[in-house]
Amino acid sequence: MSQNPVTPWIKTTCAYCGVGCGIEAKPQRNGSVLVRGDDSHPANLGKLCSKGLALGETLVEAGRLRYPLVNKQRVSWDSALTTVAQRFSETIEKHGPDSVAFYLSGQLLTEDYYVANKLMKGFIGSSNVDTNSRLCMSSSVAGHQRAFGSDSVPACYQDIEAAQLIVLVGSNLAWCHPILFQRIKAARAQNPKCKLVVIDPRVTASCSEADLHLDLDPGKDVLLFNSLLKYLANNHLVDQDYIDTHTDGFDAALQSADSESKSIEECAERLGITTAKLEQFYRLFSQTEKVLTLYSQGVNQSSQGTDKVNSIINCHLATGKVGKPGSNPFSITGQPNAMGGREVGGLAHTLTSHLGFNEPSRQLVADYWQTDNLACKPGLKAVDMFDAIASGKIKAVWIMATNPAVSLPGSNKIKAALAQCPLVVVSDCVSETDTQAFAHVQLPAQGWSEKSGTVTNSERRISRQRRITVSPGEARADWWIICEIAKRMGFARGFNYRHEAQIFREYAQLTRKAHELTKHSLNLSGLAELSDTEYHNMTPQQWPVTAKQTMPTHQHLFGDGKFDTPNQRAQLIPVTYQPSPQTLTSQYPLRLNNGRNRDQWHTMTRTGLSPRLSSHQAEPVLQISPVDAAHYQLKDNDIAQISSLAGSAIMRVLVSNSVKPGDLFAPIHWSGSNSYGGKISTLGQGITDPISGQPEMKSTPVNLKRYQANSQALVVCRRELPMQGLNYWVKQTVKDGFCYFIASDHSAADLNRQLQQLSPTRQTMRISTEQSDQSGYRFAASDANRIEFAYTLSANLNFKQYTWLEGLLNADTDQTALLISLLSASPQGELSKGKIICACKQVGENQLSCAIREQGAKDVASLTSLTQAGSGCGSCIPELAEMLETYRLEDTMS
Ligand code: SF4
Repeated sequence: MSQNPVTPWIKTTCAYCGVGCGIEAKPQRNGSVLVRGDDSHPANLGKLCSKGLALGETLVEAGRLRYPLVNKQRVSWDSALTTVAQRFSETIEKHGPDSVAFYLSGQLLTEDYYVANKLMKGFIGSSNVDTNSRLCMSSSVAGHQRAFGSDSVPACYQDIEAAQLIVLVGSNLAWCHPILFQRIKAARAQNPKCKLVVIDPRVTASCSEADLHLDLDPGKDVLLFNSLLKYLANNHLVDQDYIDTHTDGFDAALQSADSESKSIEECAERLGITTAKLEQFYRLFSQTEKVLTLYSQGVNQSSQGTDKVNSIINCHLATGKVGKPGSNPFSITGQPNAMGGREVGGLAHTLTSHLGFNEPSRQLVADYWQTDNLACKPGLKAVDMFDAIASGKIKAVWIMATNPAVSLPGSNKIKAALAQCPLVVVSDCVSETDTQAFAHVQLPAQGWSEKSGTVTNSERRISRQRRITVSPGEARADWWIICEIAKRMGFARGFNYRHEAQIFREYAQLTRKAHELTKHSLNLSGLAELSDTEYHNMTPQQWPVTAKQTMPTHQHLFGDGKFDTPNQRAQLIPVTYQPSPQTLTSQYPLRLNNGRNRDQWHTMTRTGLSPRLSSHQAEPVLQISPVDAAHYQLKDNDIAQISSLAGSAIMRVLVSNSVKPGDLFAPIHWSGSNSYGGKISTLGQGITDPISGQPEMKSTPVNLKRYQANSQALVVCRRELPMQGLNYWVKQTVKDGFCYFIASDHSAADLNRQLQQLSPTRQTMRISTEQSDQSGYRFAASDANRIEFAYTLSANLNFKQYTWLEGLLNADTDQTALLISLLSASPQGELSKGKIICACKQVGENQLSCAIREQGAKDVASLTSLTQAGSGCGSCIPELAEMLETYRLEDTMS
């Protein structure tokens, strides 16, 4: 790869998860961008996972929203901004401020978030501004507020190295926050006495490292942690001095815990685990001085998410394990700037700077923003907001940098709401999403590598995202778009910013005033006077920042036992286990859990552009236990139709012992843009936690049946294809084109005719084969000695055997060899790698199989040394271990 000696490496931050890894990026003369981990960033110390490493591959202009559009017609920026401002102003004038709403995103920068919140709550006078962080973190926010008095995370990443016991609750950290998981592995290698417990109904990649896996029944975390609290109290293992000096509510919390189960045996039975496992967990927690409990979406995305968070925090408070090195409850955020959004009031129930709607807080903000129209009460949370759009109460909505038609539960309902909303404005960097389809006005926003501002990660560390490349077309910064509309709505005096640094300073100054009023932990006063240059060069800063930090800090909160509550005492909250209101019935007897794949992010609008990332799991796959598979007559690679009260989906089947009988698991990433029926949110009902408003995503009652296709095809092509009239299809990005997985009610002969019509008109060579009984076809069309379009099709195609087909588009490989591969259905040369397991080093399943079977690889280290798999980000190591184990078992049985 040629390097430009003139351009320096630019320090920035990853676009994806809440680990907030530091990145160095260097634009190249050919328009590409090199990416590597930033050694100096305290979050990742130079390491990146497969997603971060592939960021450069996602910087493509195809699919970008380049110009403002009104009713799908290109208009000038002035015209689009004026249209939005006028329509919002007219709606407010006619129907009041609560008739409009903003729906924001954890992908926005803090500066964008700040001005959006200021416009809605400060000047429009409504609090109908919420964010997709509601779907991700709001139960943790509510849990922190109840226990600590503010939404403040006491922990930092260095706790991983200091801990003696790490507990993962509802978190497949190995896939969802891979750099933290690698950090745990490294810490355990240094300190083999450090134990790891994984609490998850599924066997996940994170279990590969665990000393103990508690595969409790879904949703029963409160029962588990209440039983731990009771055990600690009954055995005099609580820190009574800490409880007496620094907390309130212990007796009430214990009383609730006490009422749950009569005995350990009864509790274990209710949890669905053995008594021995439960007692082992009790012993580990109580006998270890430094315990770090990391939790994520398995805890938050529940109808009892807030109580789950507090049940965990209760145990930490009762043992004094808060605010100390290695000892903390630690909520790991999903999105890159969920935390920044929470700071500035991106959630409808907070004002800004961790302030609420009480009179002193309102007065402070109204004075600071110089407005007499400040909202006086919380607004609608995400699910309620879209219900209000559906009922017509909200008549204009502006959606920024997110795709609620895919990510919110009950997507059919969400789409219906957007379809009848009089004004839908979407600002985003991509042009075609399930949500953009409903937009009356589309505003092109800058994407990662183009925008400039700050993000805050899970450990309260603020980092700069810096501009690396120019924006395509007329894309502009989100904060600029918001401010221009605010000016056109008559609020110019509050939104005359020249630069994002000005916004950041204003926000930092506000945190100083808020801190003076409330004494809460959030305080950026040390950054309130930064010059533009200092802001530009700002190194990562961990809040609270009372003086600019010149070296990375690793601060804990509440280490002195003083909390952000009015009496400075932490609150233990009495909680009792409540079963999900989404009960199983004879009509919907299975429980569907969902989550992330290793190499994808959210709705794949960015990661789906990378062939490397797309190769790990090309299709949405439904995991089902062997017991249920037998009952529903499903086997690996079959296709299953899934139905719930809210909708239906269709997916490839994987029979796996990683889910318990009665449970299913499916990934969250696919949408209507890249699949027919792969969108899992269609099935969700939008049941929410009553305190946080966070929707329950992981517990949907569903039913199943096998889909029996009459024909199936695998198509590779250089251009996207129209996919009408098919019963199942999934699009995958591959190098130089696309791959389509197709299943149909049509006969093989009919599907062959249908696909022939999609063949490009310009072709210099065309070859095909056909089985004599018309049950199978293979076809390729080339132009200028390059395969443009090819497929294999049969009545019962085994897709797994054809994962090599995507390599047919590789112009660098001998075309004759490619055609022989296709026509003989036997991969030659490079094509024989098989399914890619290691995305970083592009190592395929067949190469790994050969290393194990023929070259004698016995463990991950020897497999890595023979193939390089696992030597990149390390996220594939659990799969390498699983492969070795599978082969070992096969050898034992043969
Ligand atoms: Fe990005 Fe991966 Fe780091 Fe998350 S763990 S911030 S996705 S590089």
